[in-house]
Amino acid sequence: MRAAPTLCALARAKKAVMRQNKAIGRSVPGSRESAYKRGYNSKSWDSKKKRVFARDHGMCRKCSRICVHGANDNRIRPHTDHIVPKPLGTDDIDNLQLLCGECHGRKTRKEMIENAR
Ligand SMILES: [Zn+2]
Repeated sequence: MRAAPTLCALARAKKAVMRQNKAIGRSVPGSRESAYKRGYNSKSWDSKKKRVFARDHGMCRKCSRICVHGANDNRIRPHTDHIVPKPLGTDDIDNLQLLCGECHGRKTRKEMIENAR
């Protein structure tokens, strides 16, 4: 008895991608550390978010929109963004900027596409 060759190839390809991701330090979906472990939800992260919001005057650094905490529309909510993405950058306040949800989403998508190259 032998397994269908297409299934085998698929499993091999998947394994190769996982290995590649590991080699370049990219997190594999589902294997990411919890938000807490990555330092979010902690008190210091909370106070950093507040400092970034105050320093940037509650304004998106990209489109200058005034961000609103807890707004129904995620696009106008304040997001604390890592200027140099997290695996390479630091959590230092100098590496953080305030972005609205819309600009943050666009930047994250762009980074993901660049990473996939
Ligand atoms: Zn914006």
